[in-house]
Amino acid sequence: MKPLDRTVPAPVHLAGLDRYEPGMSIEQVRREQGLTDVIKLASNENPLGPSPLALEAVRLALPSIHRYPDGAATLLRSKLAARLGVLEDQVTIGNGSSELIDLLARAYLGLGDNAVIAERGFARFRQSVNSRNQGARLVPMRERTHDLTAMREACDAQTRLLFIANPNNPTGTWNARRELAKLLSHLPEGVLVVLDEAYFEFAQDEPDYPSGLDFVASGAPVVVLRTFSKVYGLAGLRIGYAVAAPEIIAALDTVREPFNTGSLGQLAACAALDDHAHVAKTLELNRTHKARLEAELRGRGLGVLPSLGNFLCVETYRDAGLVFRRLIEHGVIVRPLRAYDLPSQLRISVGGQDEIDRLLLALDCVLLEIPRE
Ligand SMILES: *Cc1c(COP(=O)(O)O)cnc(C)c1O
Repeated sequence: MKPLDRTVPAPVHLAGLDRYEPGMSIEQVRREQGLTDVIKLASNENPLGPSPLALEAVRLALPSIHRYPDGAATLLRSKLAARLGVLEDQVTIGNGSSELIDLLARAYLGLGDNAVIAERGFARFRQSVNSRNQGARLVPMRERTHDLTAMREACDAQTRLLFIANPNNPTGTWNARRELAKLLSHLPEGVLVVLDEAYFEFAQDEPDYPSGLDFVASGAPVVVLRTFSKVYGLAGLRIGYAVAAPEIIAALDTVREPFNTGSLGQLAACAALDDHAHVAKTLELNRTHKARLEAELRGRGLGVLPSLGNFLCVETYRDAGLVFRRLIEHGVIVRPLRAYDLPSQLRISVGGQDEIDRLLLALDCVLLEIPRE
């Protein structure tokens, strides 16, 4: 066939939009740096690995992967509903909670509608919303925390969604129970609050940290998002879930793909939910290692924001992009925060003992090479 040399114009409503930059992979750094020993503290994954019970469930299910999965994820839904004390029609499962963010934008944002989002809130909020209808309204934060009063004031008659990550990624900061209660009691009609609790399990022991499920139970217009990617160690299998009133869940089920999650992920998540020992060990490890990492970083003259997650947001007082690239040469992957307009900061996952040792060793070289600005 003769070449036609005809191009299709780029979609106008996507002009100027950025896309999510995931953390560099260990494989990529091995290849590019010619290193064998590479560690990754860039995506807040579980340093203990997956739950052994989840691994066994996956092994047992492998011979059946020629079958389509249960599109409704019935078993996982009912297990989660029982665990969380909600009805089965108050839960739906997503291909990671990232998909649920996208589905919320797809379900709730019509032409001309908008969503209120904090400037340094989780990047997928604005990216999902803007790829849907360019409707992201960014509100500055106060002291690196979601400014809920300013966010409420930014709502207008066309606001349908208000996104809050609690605790927030990348800052690790959180909003207290009374702040959220106050927002909900003053919220304009027709606005649905999306409470992304990807780090809920790590945060739940903080006395004034609220569980979004209490707001759902009270009838507030809230949808809670949680994930199996962090404490449960199943990031590669892509399972997240939403809890909300049945009519909100019905809207998400209407717009999702019929087979949005795979059979292995569903079964692994069911097994991981029962692996209390793995969860307890992960939480304990995070508690002790986060305290150590924070103290070591402060001891090196770096600033650290208080964090309820399994990561720290670190002020380097230097060009953090440069620190990031030098750390790569040492085989240590962390996360630069340029996409969040935080050019002197890094996000570092807490990791295990050996990983922290490696990071600190590399950091000692790199910080000497790059003087404080
Ligand atoms: C990690 C993370 C997610 C995404 O989790 P997946 O379930 O893997 O898609 C969502 N929100 C926040 C704030 C996160 O940090």
